Amino acid sequence: MVNEIRTMLAESKELALENPGKSYDLAVRAYELAEKNGLEIEKGQAYYKMAYACRVMSDYSNGLDYAFKALDIFKENNHIEGIIKARNIIGIIYFYFGDYSSALENFTKALENLEINEDVNLKASILNNIGEIYREAKQYDRAIEYYEDALDISVEYDFSNNISAIYLNLGEVYSINNREDDAIECIRKSYEISKTGRSVIIQAEAETKLGKAMYNRGEYQKSQDYYFSALTKYNKVNNKFYLIELLINMSLLDEVMGNSPINNLQEALNNAVEIGLEPKVSNVYRLFSEYYERNHDYKNALEYYKSYHMKEKELEATNLSKKLEIISIEFDYYREKSKNKKFKVLSEKLKREVDESAIELGKIRDQNAYLVKETLVDELTKLYNRRGIYSMFSKVLGKICDSTCALFIMDIDFFKKYNDSWGHIQGDACLKKISYCLNNLPFENYFAGRFGGEEFLLYMKVESFEEAVEKGEYVRRAVEELKLFYSREEDSRHVTVSLGGKIGVVNMSNLNRIVEEADKELYLAKEQGRNRLSISMIEE
Ligand code: GH3
Ligand code: MG
Ligand code: MG
Repeated sequence: MVNEIRTMLAESKELALENPGKSYDLAVRAYELAEKNGLEIEKGQAYYKMAYACRVMSDYSNGLDYAFKALDIFKENNHIEGIIKARNIIGIIYFYFGDYSSALENFTKALENLEINEDVNLKASILNNIGEIYREAKQYDRAIEYYEDALDISVEYDFSNNISAIYLNLGEVYSINNREDDAIECIRKSYEISKTGRSVIIQAEAETKLGKAMYNRGEYQKSQDYYFSALTKYNKVNNKFYLIELLINMSLLDEVMGNSPINNLQEALNNAVEIGLEPKVSNVYRLFSEYYERNHDYKNALEYYKSYHMKEKELEATNLSKKLEIISIEFDYYREKSKNKKFKVLSEKLKREVDESAIELGKIRDQNAYLVKETLVDELTKLYNRRGIYSMFSKVLGKICDSTCALFIMDIDFFKKYNDSWGHIQGDACLKKISYCLNNLPFENYFAGRFGGEEFLLYMKVESFEEAVEKGEYVRRAVEELKLFYSREEDSRHVTVSLGGKIGVVNMSNLNRIVEEADKELYLAKEQGRNRLSISMIEE
């Protein structure tokens, strides 16, 4: 039985980086078996593997929970190696959350235990992690000290993956301190060593950093060569996480080489959104905004700046709630152990944080609601803008995607004539009146947006073709009855609109096609003399 569990645990470890989900499942099964057979150490090891898999999947709060459970079991059984590993992962998770003092405390305790149980590989990785903390704390000299200690051990025992990772970290610190030559030397070393190792990712990371260093020196061709080589590698192993940073760097290079950075930025954004890497999403929004600003496209610059600002606020709020999650895990942990003094300190800390964050979150929520409105609603007409329209669609179509609805594109007839006789400002006022009417139709389950210029989109739930025609006609008449005259002349007619519609089931995958088809219907309505509706069924 013990052997069976150990095989499962070994397999779980093997899979952790490639397939953390499966690694986690195996660890859970190993835990259940160990529990059934009363095998304490194996239970602890299973918890540790679960924590590890959670960390790979970025599920840090569960990771921390399992790591604490593992630590308890190892402590009770005086299993030193287990204690060290559990402390190390706890430290890493704290580090990730930005709680550097707790991270440092755990790494230090792990180091103390390493005095009893020498494990050089673990020691090197913990020293490197401590270096990371000092780097984040901007204590670069100490960071370098720890990296170098980690490096010495790794060199002595020939842990090549460790060595190249540590050289990269050292390079980073030198680069921050404007010691570009030292930085390049470290990255080069890392690169050379990584080429002998198995990890394609470390090689590509080194290439990305070398590319960046060449970019900083103005050696753009060399920079591009490194980037392309890294790109091929990331694509080969299908790694999105590191790819994002590379694409961002490539977009900067694009600009100095006279190319448009849009494609690379957009791809970086897509990847960051896909894997849910919010800080990178924010970063890319900012880069977009800066790019547009440099090119005097202030409208886009502002849009992206708003998105960036909103993301940053959202991140602040999430960090806060993550911090709370951590405290409540600690809270449970110490309550179970009823360590009185620590418990009291923690419960006070928790209470304070909860109070502070409630205020903070409230503020952020208000600001966000305002900003969301700003970016989704058209300023002139107060109807949804294009972005708002799509955001509404993604909300609505997620819920009622198999029900029938009508989608109309509506365009004002001869609007140019209106502008010509009354002037642009009156033209704007006319758009406002029509928009107000569209926003206040006596329909249930509908929304209206400004698609651009004097063109609008209407989306409504309907039961039948007849109902769609009726509602479309209602809108057409409602505008006509606003009695907005085209000109001062006595025989002037009222402003009218033409509508093109489609009826059927709309969903996110056929949406663009349906909009195009409704636009064709609109064209027909115009051709047939305007002030009318042309509508047809959606064909599957
Ligand atoms: P048609 O019946 O074929 O649609 O004729 P039209 O004159 O409405 O079509 P066209 O596309 O030639 O002209 C649209 C006009 O709408 C031209 C443009 O100046 C005006 N327009 C677009 N956006 C605005 C706006 O925000 N305010 C004002 N006042 N006018 C706008
Ligand atoms: Mg038009
Ligand atoms: Mg028009």
